[in-house]
Amino acid sequence: MPKNGSVLVIGAGIAGMKAGLMLAGASKKVHLVEKLPIIGGKVIKNEESFPNMECSTCMVAPVQQEVLQNSNIETYTYSNVESISGSKGCYEVVIRRKARYISLVNCIGCGMCFDPCPVSIKNFWEENLMDMKAVYVPTAGSLPNVPVIDSTHCLYLNGTKECNLCVEACVFDAIDLNDKDEVITVQVEAILIATGADIFDLSALPELGHGKLSAVYSPLEFERLFAANGPTLGELTLRGTDVSPKRIAIVHCAGRKDVGYCSTVCCMYSFKFVRFLHHKLPEAEIFNIYLDVCVPGKSYQEFFTSLGEKSTKMLFTPSIEEVKVTEGDSALKVSYPDAAGETGELDVDMVILSAAMVPESDLNDLAGIAGIELDSHGFIKRSENGTGSLETTKEGIFVAGSAQGPMDIQKSVIQAESAAGQIMKIMSNSAGEQNNESALGS
Ligand SMILES: Cc1cc2nc3c(=O)[nH]c(=O)nc-3n(C[C@H](O)[C@H](O)[C@H](O)COP(=O)(O)OP(=O)(O)OC[C@H]3O[C@@H](n4cnc5c(N)ncnc54)[C@H](O)[C@@H]3O)c2cc1C
Ligand code: SF4
Ligand code: SF4
Repeated sequence: MPKNGSVLVIGAGIAGMKAGLMLAGASKKVHLVEKLPIIGGKVIKNEESFPNMECSTCMVAPVQQEVLQNSNIETYTYSNVESISGSKGCYEVVIRRKARYISLVNCIGCGMCFDPCPVSIKNFWEENLMDMKAVYVPTAGSLPNVPVIDSTHCLYLNGTKECNLCVEACVFDAIDLNDKDEVITVQVEAILIATGADIFDLSALPELGHGKLSAVYSPLEFERLFAANGPTLGELTLRGTDVSPKRIAIVHCAGRKDVGYCSTVCCMYSFKFVRFLHHKLPEAEIFNIYLDVCVPGKSYQEFFTSLGEKSTKMLFTPSIEEVKVTEGDSALKVSYPDAAGETGELDVDMVILSAAMVPESDLNDLAGIAGIELDSHGFIKRSENGTGSLETTKEGIFVAGSAQGPMDIQKSVIQAESAAGQIMKIMSNSAGEQNNESALGS
């Protein structure tokens, strides 16, 4: 295959978008594949991001816009990579663009099709804290701001009923219930995987009550509860009520023992939650039950210190895996082995579990498709030999961001831009080789 200057980037979170923009800025053609209907990744779930407490949407929206408007980037939302064949310098990639049923060209994002839809389902993106229709955008401010129809629940598409209420409501003729998946084949010289990470499945820790006790929250649920564009428009009220919590426990390291590593970002997001809570509910009492305080580097230590003793009580436990959350007399009871070897007990009305970060659930499948190895924890393995290379175990396939292990935004972006630089280097080397070959051949 002649060198075509193209790169595949899988995952349009902050790492994938930043790498894509850098490659596009160097005149590479970027095929950016995102499995969700929107781009932005996990960062757009946060109201604010540590350590500078910047508004996350304000930080990411310009990047999303730039990606969508860049003529060197072809963005495939609601799409998956089905196969990858070939080797370094000449990969052939098959992408399946799932039927969206709504035209990315004709739709203006007015939302007039939502109300008439008779189907309500849980909104997965909002951590099931609110409902959405079968025709939906995952969240307010979605980019692209074009809905998608959930084919499993849509009455017309699942064959339950001849419904076309959304079609009738759309004056822009943007909805086509006969839309079909599209299969696209592209040739690329290199591949970057930036598919991010997920949080530990808290249902595997029944002693912590998540999923059973309504006032126990996962960290992503709490992020959405706090978000101004989230299910409660930023009102901090307990699930299913209009009551704000008065005593809140943040339990660190949920799942740490099971995964066998410290996820490095969870202490910091826990302390971010302290800052949020203290700011919004200054009268509330906040407790952190912790084993270690992981605040590496200058800015993280400073962030932690700046919280001060007034905003939270730090309660050390030598055995975080023995923490239990049960139904208490009024609300919830948290029990934990304390520093003196006794059982500490707290009555609270809200618990936030700072879950470990784990590989995305479908990373194993993607690794199989790409022919790359995962490390012993299930994240993408680097071939690294101490050189800082972000190449995976397969030549020409690179990794960046939290697909490689738990990581904050700053490190994800640094890795993304470094990976883009490494990709450009191998592309210019191979272009040089090709020129030499043609010069010799002529
Ligand atoms: C609760 C919580 C709060 C946090 N708060 C902060 C904070 O305040 N500050 C901070 O610095 N860090 C924070 N972090 C960490 C931050 O979320 C990560 O650093 C950041 O999301 C990493 O970006 P990424 O692009 O690597 O991955 P992601 O943001 O996870 O993006 C990956 C993208 O890839 C897509 N994708 C996944 N699999 C596939 C596939 N097979 N095919 C196509 N697309 C795929 C996903 O849908 C997603 O859009 C927080 C993390 C959590 C869990
Ligand atoms: S599909 Fe039509 S009605 Fe729905 S948001 Fe787009 S333009 Fe508006
Ligand atoms: S066709 Fe489907 S998405 Fe449209 S209104 Fe009916 S059920 Fe909802």
